[in-house]
Amino acid sequence: MLAVPFLRWGGQSLLRVDLESRSLLALGHTFRLEEFPLVLPLVLALLTTLLLLTLVFGRVWCGWACPQTLWSDLVEGVARRLGARVRGRRLSAGLPTQAAFHMVCAALGLLVGANLVWYFLPPTGYLAALFRGELPAPAVVTTLAVAALVYLDLAFVRRTFCAEFCPYGRFQTTLVDRGTLTLQVLPGQADRCIECGACTAACPTGVDVRRGSDAGCINCGRCLDACAAVMARRGEGGLIGYTWGSGDHGPRALLTPRTALVFGVVLAAWGALFLAAGQSEPLAFSVRRSPTAEPRVVAGERFVTFFTGAVTNRTAETLELTLVARSGEHPLEVRGPGRQLTLEPGERAAVEFAVVAPLPAAAGPLAATLAWVMDGAQGVPREATLVPPAR
Ligand code: SF4
Ligand code: SF4
Repeated sequence: MLAVPFLRWGGQSLLRVDLESRSLLALGHTFRLEEFPLVLPLVLALLTTLLLLTLVFGRVWCGWACPQTLWSDLVEGVARRLGARVRGRRLSAGLPTQAAFHMVCAALGLLVGANLVWYFLPPTGYLAALFRGELPAPAVVTTLAVAALVYLDLAFVRRTFCAEFCPYGRFQTTLVDRGTLTLQVLPGQADRCIECGACTAACPTGVDVRRGSDAGCINCGRCLDACAAVMARRGEGGLIGYTWGSGDHGPRALLTPRTALVFGVVLAAWGALFLAAGQSEPLAFSVRRSPTAEPRVVAGERFVTFFTGAVTNRTAETLELTLVARSGEHPLEVRGPGRQLTLEPGERAAVEFAVVAPLPAAAGPLAATLAWVMDGAQGVPREATLVPPAR
């Protein structure tokens, strides 16, 4: 997450919201605001995939990938290196160690705050503006607000958030199935327990794994390591291990109607996303009649209508474009420098052009279609209305 804003793909940021052009830059593509309906199936696909992963692997997100867990692990690791004793939210240490710990939390808060803004402003521009003292006020406020929240979280809350407040953690516990991967004292091993308490002491969420499955368990595996270390000193293997559900049926325990249903929903969500992406047009084209130039009659019983608009190349290739106009089966003349364009991948251009049409015999508007032609193929046309001036 820290590195992504610095990475580039296809000459632009790997992943960034570009506020100036109101676009999402992702994996070398530019998604304009008008394409954001695609975000809905994408979010649906990611969410359902996360649900399936939770159903199969339990709270692995919480234990292995959530930034809250990772940052908490980091600051607690630093605190221990500094000589502090960390137990849940409580940190026992002398004043200098406490001060150093709070400085580390504040520095991480600033880093996370700046990192969030880098997903909207390029980090090189952000840092240059920062050193010149010209960072825009919204960027300063966002950085400091996020830094303050992260500092308070890391210094005083940490795992309490996971156990007490995190809505996603609560939600995940309802998903656990009888075959979900879980950590427990392995079947038939409980008699070997020497009641040393190392597993409970190692648990970041205060779970006693010996009492069976617990909603607070985040599948981090620390109890497994602690028990294995204790028992290794006695020349024996650890008692705790990962099992599918109770461990009696192996991975077959996952074959339940619930898992099959969620798997089907995941397939459908990704299918819908690919279908929607496949139907997306190579060009984004918006057009409207010019609000400043009125239609007027020109020589030869014809009239001209002025248009303004914008066109964006959504493909990864340079496109040579020519604008054509028709009214029914009759081609119309297009005038102006905006009728021919060369657009680089992701480039957007504002266009102004005029369409010349014969004056209709009967008064009233004339329906027309406008379309860009590229490589001999015609893009999806846009409807336009030509309104002849009063004669
Ligand atoms: S019970 Fe074990 S796996 Fe679960 S949270 Fe505690 S230490 Fe991690
Ligand atoms: S660490 Fe292992 S041996 Fe020690 S109490 Fe926990 S389960 Fe028993």
